[in-house]
Amino acid sequence: MASKDQPLDDHNCTPSKKTWLFGPDWSGRRCGAKTRSGKPCQKPALKHNARCQIHGGRGGAPAGERNGNYRTGEYTKQTLREKREAFQRIRELVAIGKQIGMFD
Ligand SMILES: [Zn+2]
Repeated sequence: MASKDQPLDDHNCTPSKKTWLFGPDWSGRRCGAKTRSGKPCQKPALKHNARCQIHGGRGGAPAGERNGNYRTGEYTKQTLREKREAFQRIRELVAIGKQIGMFD
């Protein structure tokens, strides 16, 4: 938030970089992700996961049908979890079947 007594830039309409809220003197939490230059990212971190918007702060790509790579849905996290649970149930039933001599 720029107050009236802060210096404005040459166009006299927006605050100059010196008064930018998240400048070098800002005391809040920085993103800190390793950048391509090797230094920690200095952008302000988002509240929920301590990374900035360009370093995963928003949590990545949308899941399921909303993802751009979605085709048939056969390999979405949800489908894979359902398959895993179904095969686990089958294994449990087979184990019970073996105990009661179903396969002898
Ligand atoms: Zn960052």
